[in-house]
Amino acid sequence: MAKRKIAVVGIGKISQDQHLPVIDKSGDFELAATVSTRGLAHNGLPVFKTAAELYRAMPEVGLVAICTPPGVRHALVREAIDAGKDVLMEKPPTPTISEFDDLVAYGREKGRVLFQTWHSQYNAAVDRVRDMLKTDGVASVRIDWRESVRKWHPGQDWVWEPGGFGVCDPGINALSIFTKIMPFPVFVKSAALRFPANRQTPVDVELVFKSAEPHQPEMSAGFNWLEESGEIWTIAIRTAKGDELKLEKGGTVLKVNGQTVVEEPSEEYERIYERFAELLDQRQSDTHGAPLRLLADAFLLGSRENTDLFEW
Ligand code: NAP
Repeated sequence: MAKRKIAVVGIGKISQDQHLPVIDKSGDFELAATVSTRGLAHNGLPVFKTAAELYRAMPEVGLVAICTPPGVRHALVREAIDAGKDVLMEKPPTPTISEFDDLVAYGREKGRVLFQTWHSQYNAAVDRVRDMLKTDGVASVRIDWRESVRKWHPGQDWVWEPGGFGVCDPGINALSIFTKIMPFPVFVKSAALRFPANRQTPVDVELVFKSAEPHQPEMSAGFNWLEESGEIWTIAIRTAKGDELKLEKGGTVLKVNGQTVVEEPSEEYERIYERFAELLDQRQSDTHGAPLRLLADAFLLGSRENTDLFEW
């Protein structure tokens, strides 16, 4: 079968780190063009300043991956759906729940395939923990998601603007794992949001969760964006049976009682594009919004504190 032609919209860090190289070696997809306000082409392929220009010039391109910051995604995805495209969306989907719900409904109404990706969910260790918790139950969960904003979002001022999520941009990755593995619904009980006094989004967040479970497991999360010692992306879980599970390195490694039982290189984006091919074959969408809802609840409930000024 011929490869499917796809265009990537927004040629920033994640497109250059993951989408373009993964599409280049994909057996299912072939890059046809890029859309880049800065005019960044890839491998000499056509580049357009706007998606509208791409849709006019290359109507044979049926797919787009929208890899911009979330603030402009709603308009871009609606425009793509109107142009008859099937759409892959980076995370976090949109800055608001109502925009996200609108895209899901609009895609359904127009019969387009819409794939809301959550890259951290695409790890074998995450699937293993989900299966274990279904049978073994949960006594406690502690999430620690700490990294350097200077390393992972160098010079990206949008992350500090309203709707830019701040440290919750990576933090939502932890929530995407959390909402996938938990065998019962979880809710935000309290949230402490710390904002650099000169910025509009938080640099440090502490969350406490609750559930409707009679035994009330202890569940909490801490996100921090000033960790310069390396990434700490871990979820430590005690099961109701008494085992200690630890998801490390963003969900690629699983330790059970100190023993490594799953350790795989991160192939999150390879698996995302495999999943997109499956969805296209089945003409089905995959659009779950649980991580965004949980995060929105944290902002609704959160207390605010100002901390030190942030400068790049
Ligand atoms: P980025 O480096 O700032 O790239 C975003 C690109 O989108 C820009 O370079 C720009 O590319 C385009 N763009 C279009 N409209 C824009 C606007 N109004 N403001 C800024 N850029 C605009 O950001 P990124 O790190 O790639 O993140 C993009 C998305 O991927 C975010 O939702 C993020 O959460 C997600 N993500 C990022 C990482 C990471 O490691 N940074 C990892 C996983 C997921 P052109 O100049 O080509 O138009």
